[in-house]
Amino acid sequence: MHEVTQLMLHNRAWAAEQLVEDPDFFSRHVADQKPVFLWIGCSDSRVAPDQFTQALPGGLFIHRNIANLVQPEDGNLMAVIDFAIGVLMIDRIVVCGHYGCGGIKAALAGTPTTGPLGEWLGHARDVYRDHEDEVNAQPDEDSRTNRLVECNVRDQLLHVAGTAPVKAAWAAGRDLQLHGWVYDIRDGLLKSLLDIDRNTVLAGVGAPQRVLV
Ligand SMILES: [Zn+2]
Repeated sequence: MHEVTQLMLHNRAWAAEQLVEDPDFFSRHVADQKPVFLWIGCSDSRVAPDQFTQALPGGLFIHRNIANLVQPEDGNLMAVIDFAIGVLMIDRIVVCGHYGCGGIKAALAGTPTTGPLGEWLGHARDVYRDHEDEVNAQPDEDSRTNRLVECNVRDQLLHVAGTAPVKAAWAAGRDLQLHGWVYDIRDGLLKSLLDIDRNTVLAGVGAPQRVLV
């Protein structure tokens, strides 16, 4: 119970602090939201995008799931992308993986394979299968995990590029840009892997350069 009380108390302190610094902080947000970025990241509790980008409320439209996977059959994420592009008119989408991702480690280990978690991780095992030679060529388990993290960001960003709302935005001439990043838990820094825009030849997008060394 102590943890619950602590969360509530921290929330009250935070709300009070915002009002001291900016009396209109909350009233400004009541009418609408106009975020600049759609952020697709991992659910990992250590990877908090608003905090490590210092984005204020209203800045990031966020979707998180285990291992930051983008699957056409995931109605939740497809609705998020549809809304972000079609209604919020967002033109910047980030897919962000992270160092030491537990979902990616599990995909490498090949377990679990059953239940909701095992089924979900099947999408990450698909990425491993498609990049197996390169991942297995890494010298140790950490390196294999982090190379798969990078390959996974690349594959998921391509999945974003293949969604109907993104293709429609590009066909309409919008300057919609997709960014593949990783967050390094060891130093708190974001590192860029690849960018995709409407002029990118998707079939020519190769494996990203290694950044998680
Ligand atoms: Zn993760």
